[in-house]
Amino acid sequence: MKDAASPPTRPAPQDWHAETAILHGDAWLSTDGAVCPPIHYSATFKAESAQEFAEMATTARHPGFYTRYGNPVHKRVEAILAELEGTETALLTASGMGAISTTILALVARGDHVIAQRRHYMSTSRLFEEILPRFGVESTFVDQTDLDAMAAAIKPNTRLIMLETPVNPTLALTDLQAVASMAQPKGIITIADNTFASPINQKPHDLGIDIVLHSATKYFGGHHDVTAGAICCSNAHAEKIWDMHTTLGSVLSPMDAWLLLRGLRTLSLRMERINSNALALAQWLEQQPQIERVFYPGLESHPQHDLALKQMRGFGAVIAFSVKGGFDATSRFVSGLKLATHAVSLGGVETLAVHTAAMWSGTMTEAQMQTAGIEPNFVRMSVGVEHIDDLKQDLSQALPQVTN
Ligand SMILES: *Cc1c(COP(=O)(O)O)cnc(C)c1O
Repeated sequence: MKDAASPPTRPAPQDWHAETAILHGDAWLSTDGAVCPPIHYSATFKAESAQEFAEMATTARHPGFYTRYGNPVHKRVEAILAELEGTETALLTASGMGAISTTILALVARGDHVIAQRRHYMSTSRLFEEILPRFGVESTFVDQTDLDAMAAAIKPNTRLIMLETPVNPTLALTDLQAVASMAQPKGIITIADNTFASPINQKPHDLGIDIVLHSATKYFGGHHDVTAGAICCSNAHAEKIWDMHTTLGSVLSPMDAWLLLRGLRTLSLRMERINSNALALAQWLEQQPQIERVFYPGLESHPQHDLALKQMRGFGAVIAFSVKGGFDATSRFVSGLKLATHAVSLGGVETLAVHTAAMWSGTMTEAQMQTAGIEPNFVRMSVGVEHIDDLKQDLSQALPQVTN
């Protein structure tokens, strides 16, 4: 790139609302007048001189040197994500797990202790339970709703606290501000997986959390087409994490970064519809005779509804509910859905539904499922942007299957 030796520096964060930031947060990176950004499909970038090459190679996180180190399309997405989460900077990875594993591995060393929740996204739990012990890092798992347990778990060698809220399967919440304020004076790094909320609904960094992680596969991409991840944090943390990132190599392709950029442009519109659809559907489900219980942070019946109102501005796509019946009745009901697609994942434009126990029955024993709180009659839905009446109609026609 012509201006490769002097990458544009990010202007001071704009005081934009999210709706504006997702459209204009990357404008300062425009160089060629194209309204829609080009895809820089190049693995490597030339320098104009040996001296410029030397500068490129030593400028950390240079956007135009070698794509594993960064790519101009990555920079655009990162600029928007930093605006959205209110952090100094952001880093893109090839998946949400790429973001989580790279961040954790960058920050811990042999002899460190870390605190994580008893429940996390399954592969995150596996990182703490099975992989970190192999490198001499000890983890304590606490009930995320129990702040006293969180405080009691802190040791002199606690390096970081990993949080995730809301979390599967019952959409339990963690009080982000409370945990941040107990960690900060002790110099413990706090990390939050904000995938289930999105920065439209929840901004962990504003509540004192240091590092915010995302599976960009979900709301950010928003169309069930891209797999990607993001790390939003300070420049100091980003340097450290980027070092690990260039070694582990969880690099997003320029095409996928561009698709992510394209998806992001409508994030706030999609979230508005998703939030209102999901809340309406959760309230409606609570009134259906075949439904035992509905779990959604936006419902007054959610045990942490007050905390939801305090730290969230919307409650997201994911609703969990139990039907009055066993495994087979639940299976019949989910199979009876015609509009909702039977698939994992969340946060896309179309509604998805899964029978949770059926999803795990191949990989978990019944006892493991019980420990993880996965009941045989549990259904998880990710509500999309369809018309609410069509979604209710689909559930209405499938619900009688529960009692058949
Ligand atoms: C999907 C998900 C992940 C993993 O993201 P991938 O993009 O699939 O690697 C991590 N955390 C949460 C909360 C998720 O929903």
